Amino acid sequence: MDKFEVAVIGGGPAGLTAALYLLRARRKVLLVEKLSPGGQVLLTEKIENYPGFPEGITGFELADAFAAQVEKYEGLHKHFGEVKKIEVGDKYHTLHLEESTVQVKALVVASGARWRKLGVPGEQELAGKGISYCAICDGNFFRDQVVACIGGGDTALEESLYLSKIVKKIYLIHRRDKFRGTKIYQEKVLANPKIEVIWDSVVEEFKGQESLEKVVLKNVKNGNTSELEVSGAFIFIGVEPNSEFLPPEVKKDERGFVLTDSEMQTNIKGIYAAGDIRAKNCRQVSTAVGDGACAGFNVANYLEQLDD
Ligand code: NAP
Repeated sequence: MDKFEVAVIGGGPAGLTAALYLLRARRKVLLVEKLSPGGQVLLTEKIENYPGFPEGITGFELADAFAAQVEKYEGLHKHFGEVKKIEVGDKYHTLHLEESTVQVKALVVASGARWRKLGVPGEQELAGKGISYCAICDGNFFRDQVVACIGGGDTALEESLYLSKIVKKIYLIHRRDKFRGTKIYQEKVLANPKIEVIWDSVVEEFKGQESLEKVVLKNVKNGNTSELEVSGAFIFIGVEPNSEFLPPEVKKDERGFVLTDSEMQTNIKGIYAAGDIRAKNCRQVSTAVGDGACAGFNVANYLEQLDD
């Protein structure tokens, strides 16, 4: 069985930053990534709030630069695949990968989060047939068409703005009468002639034969229902953690996000978490990078204590 000093699970901003700090501390790092390095950042058209880029930077460019920086160092072993299970041990924790098993003294869990589903009738059946969770992936399918976006957070606002450059019209459906997302996005959304906000409304059902045709809405204040004719619907109602593979011993909050102390350590010795998987209220590229740096730094110290 292979042994590594430390494994980093997830190649998004948090994982790549943790790996960078560990490599610079001259540790051998196993980086486990499901697809290609970058994480959800790759699905963001433009990032305007990552310091150092006054004109903004595309998610792809930023992810590429993060990955290139890590590649410069010796000691990086990349494994493309999924971690199926982790067994907590005394000296070593055991990672079960798809076709192999490795032992590590420490690990940084930075496996991020995925889009939440609404869970209403028609959503599952019409996913990929008009229903999407990613504007940058699917936006072009709806060029000059009418679509709905659902949600009121940063993602819903930012992605509606992106889609407005492609589609004919957007109904932005939000369950309250106030957005949650950043003020600067709110201002841009409200000033955008292609975006019509439908306040106080929830989706009850998605309808369509071969593909999405209608969204059934309910006004939560007066109970009235209505239908909107759309060819696409983008659901942006937040995220849920990719934490299913973690051992039950690791403490999580009620939604499955991993609890850590301010040093990014979980309740289990040698297991740290960083980025969107962590229980916190500010999920940004900048905070993921901060978490990753903190986790990398503290794991390096932890490994040094073990060496002594
Ligand atoms: P979020 O901030 O959790 O917002 C989710 C939105 O969806 C809220 O407006 C919420 O309504 C609504 N919602 C939740 N469940 C719903 C349901 N069942 N039916 C209808 N509406 C529902 O999620 P997010 O916008 O995906 O953002 C996730 C994190 O990433 C946040 O920390 C965000 O700041 C960050 N992010 C940042 C940027 C950026 O800075 N550029 C971009 C994207 C995301 P309520 O408001 O009523 O709760």
